[in-house]
Amino acid sequence: MPPRTPPAPYRLKTNPAVPPMARAASIALGLMRAAGVTRWAEMGDVLPAAVELADEEYRLLVDHIEILSFLRLQSRLEDGTRAPTVTVAVCPECGEWVLISSGPAPNRCEMTRGCAGKPVKAVVATKEQPTRQAAA
Ligand SMILES: [Zn+2]
Repeated sequence: MPPRTPPAPYRLKTNPAVPPMARAASIALGLMRAAGVTRWAEMGDVLPAAVELADEEYRLLVDHIEILSFLRLQSRLEDGTRAPTVTVAVCPECGEWVLISSGPAPNRCEMTRGCAGKPVKAVVATKEQPTRQAAA
């Protein structure tokens, strides 16, 4: 039997228009999903081989390392119910952030008095569809 070649690593799809912290949280949640863990600490400093991070994405994680431990990926509890995903909503105007679970981001910034920003919720980064075959 020929040795099984591991599948080629995939890239994560994130929205470059969202605040950098929200993007970092998206990348982290995507990595946690790829690794099958629910907390950043469970990664044990080893990024899953299934994902290929761009240098820029890696730098975003390093720059926002302080929020990664707050993130939680949805998980099934012993009683069969599900613990929600915990992510951040980041205000693009003042840069303040708040932890949120299920549901949309707050409609307006509640972190800074008088701020007119509309916080952006960080979603779990999805798998970028490979484009390599198209070039072949
Ligand atoms: Zn704000």
